Amino acid sequence: MATERTLSIIKPDATKRNLTGKINAKFEEAGLRIVAQKRIQLSKAQAGAFYAVHKERPFYDELCEFMASAPVVVQVLEGDNAIAKNREVMGATNPADADAGTIRAEFAESVGENSVHGSDAPDTAKEEISFFFSGLEIVG
Ligand code: ADP
Ligand code: MG
Repeated sequence: MATERTLSIIKPDATKRNLTGKINAKFEEAGLRIVAQKRIQLSKAQAGAFYAVHKERPFYDELCEFMASAPVVVQVLEGDNAIAKNREVMGATNPADADAGTIRAEFAESVGENSVHGSDAPDTAKEEISFFFSGLEIVG
């Protein structure tokens, strides 16, 4: 298996409830290493640029408002098969469909306020990591 990096975001619903450490423990228990991390407050425009791929979806405006509503923790996770592994640890988008033990099953509040973001493929992981981090900020 190849060592990969993926972009993760701990979303406002989770930072507001002080769940950063509990969510990070899930990543580390799954063998993912947090090789970069910072807590930031996105503007609505920055959230919109990050989620531009979803701009035609009916929930886009709500999603951008939500992502700008409180701080987020952006992070780079590294490990074998990190992109798919993180998606497994996160669970399904809608917490009602998420497997037991996943972050979204345990912590998400709704399909929109679902605690975490994770890149979905190698090309998006690369783009999303460089949206938030310079090479100097990632220490593997
Ligand atoms: P994922 O985050 O699992 O990759 P998507 O890329 O499909 O899911 O959607 C991006 C984000 O948009 C979701 O994590 C969620 O916050 C929000 N979202 C997705 N579907 C809905 C929906 N039906 N209603 C409200 N928000 C949604
Ligand atoms: Mg997605």
